[in-house]
Amino acid sequence: MNSIVLVTGGSRGIGAATSKLLAKQGYAVCVNYMTNKAEADNVIAEIEEAGGTAIAVQADVSKEHDVIRLFNTIDKSLGNITHLVNNAGVLLTQMRVAEMTAERINKVLTTNVTSYFLCCREAINRMPKGGAIVNVSSVASRLGSAGEYVDYAASKGAIDTLTIGLSLEVASQGIRVNCVRPGFIYTDMHADGGEPDRVNRVKALIPLQRGGKPDEVAASIAFLLSNDASFITGTFIDIAGGK
Ligand code: NAP
Repeated sequence: MNSIVLVTGGSRGIGAATSKLLAKQGYAVCVNYMTNKAEADNVIAEIEEAGGTAIAVQADVSKEHDVIRLFNTIDKSLGNITHLVNNAGVLLTQMRVAEMTAERINKVLTTNVTSYFLCCREAINRMPKGGAIVNVSSVASRLGSAGEYVDYAASKGAIDTLTIGLSLEVASQGIRVNCVRPGFIYTDMHADGGEPDRVNRVKALIPLQRGGKPDEVAASIAFLLSNDASFITGTFIDIAGGK
């Protein structure tokens, strides 16, 4: 059976590193992006130059009709999906809970939580012979991100619980559901939170005394998707230098 994977938010950061690694390992990859077509096209070009197969599909995964279109496109262009990496996520400007609006909280929850549910639903319904899903959460789910983005941390708490519940729900169908929890990885996400240099600011507090690289997260995602993890489901790998 050919391995066909969707990586949501595959145009940048952890998603781009994961897309490239999985393509190297022989997966046909759908690189989803929301706005950044040029970066998604760069990822596709790099994969194709190395002899791999990939397509880029624009979709806002917080919107149900976009998710359905995304999966229908994969069906037509690559075939039946066998693996899913739920990775697309946002964090918004650092602020205390006392200042947060409903609009902000809902944006974080629909992008970071609703999208994961919708993509899981569409993937599971296409995995009659089993499959594997990795959800990208964050160590924020246990640290809480006080004074920065508790809404984001809470959204990742929901993903941890989704992983536990869904893994139990679909285990008898041969579908494995696992989770990685990165922390303090050098990507553009921290600029979206209003502090591009955040990883360097906090790195002295990380036991391994440095920030992480997207490739280091991609390696754990690839492991959990692979047959090397064939008896692993409902499990978490923290990738945060000991934090
Ligand atoms: P990033 O560099 O900011 O990239 C985010 C990706 O998500 C981009 O490809 C972006 O697409 C996409 N995206 C955002 N909203 C989307 C939507 N509604 N629909 C489709 N795609 C959307 O982020 P990252 O740091 O690699 O983070 C990836 C994942 O790791 C996230 O779930 C994040 O919470 C988690 N994480 C990151 C860190 C860290 O330190 N960086 C730590 C813990 C967890 P466009 O390029 O088109 O905008």
